[in-house]
Amino acid sequence: MATIDGLPPLRDVIRNHDLVAKKQLGQNFLLDLNLTSKIARQAGDLTACDVLEIGPGPGGLTRGLLAEGARRVLAIEKDPRCLPALAEIAAVYPGKLTVLGGDALQIDPTAHLTAPIRVIANLPYNVGTELLVRWLTPDQWPPFWESLTLMFQREVAERIVAKPRTDHYGRLALLAQWRCDAQIVMSLPPEAFTPAPKVHSAVVHLTRLAQPRFAADGAVLARVTAMAFNQRRKMLRSSLKGMGPGIEDKLRAANIEPTCRAEEIGLEQFCALARLLA
Ligand code: SAM
Repeated sequence: MATIDGLPPLRDVIRNHDLVAKKQLGQNFLLDLNLTSKIARQAGDLTACDVLEIGPGPGGLTRGLLAEGARRVLAIEKDPRCLPALAEIAAVYPGKLTVLGGDALQIDPTAHLTAPIRVIANLPYNVGTELLVRWLTPDQWPPFWESLTLMFQREVAERIVAKPRTDHYGRLALLAQWRCDAQIVMSLPPEAFTPAPKVHSAVVHLTRLAQPRFAADGAVLARVTAMAFNQRRKMLRSSLKGMGPGIEDKLRAANIEPTCRAEEIGLEQFCALARLLA
């Protein structure tokens, strides 16, 4: 069957290169090129952007990004078995696709990218949250990227967009919503992937804000929210004891009742507390 880019269908790519999925690498592949193009479109017009993709695998999303006109794609893939398949895509799009073999946690991609940069990826589940937290907590703001369009397990996606007083609300929601607009833009059932994972997935689109919504030191905010949600059922006066003496007074000064639990407190109050603790 012909494909939009003239390359073989992904099922054939996987067979030709013997890409039997490895669970330890979080390999759940998207084989429907209409779907991967749709995911690429969630990030907006890519024609004037460089795209960073983590974990291209056999290249389904990579082909979607290139078919949607991305100016350049830098893809980082840990599994060396995928590299020959990705080289075939690069040959069809001369000068547009660069593939780095290696662990995305160990590679600084910024030297290979030119602004404006968007990150678009169907992330491996085992390192997805760690990469997101790194992208959300750089030393300098604005970060190197304009937007992040990322596939996660549905539950992780809900943690990113959650509001106070809901089950999924926690550190990830606060770190994401402090300096970004975040929303779930697509939901995918397990059958969309090969092999099918046990859980549903969702695509989250995050757009960076020029300034944080409320002033705070990022490291202090990260520390105080980690400590508060580590024991989310406890009152803040006890879960935050480790933040030093006088925590009850500081909570009150931040307009927080010391007997409240972390999940009742909004971003503005957490930022006020972080300022008092800095
Ligand atoms: N993008 C492809 C797709 O949508 O079909 C594959 C997505 S699959 C969920 C995750 C991919 O990330 C796999 O190809 C896996 O080998 C790769 N991967 C896993 N850990 C990685 C890491 N630390 N750095 C870079 N790639 C990684």
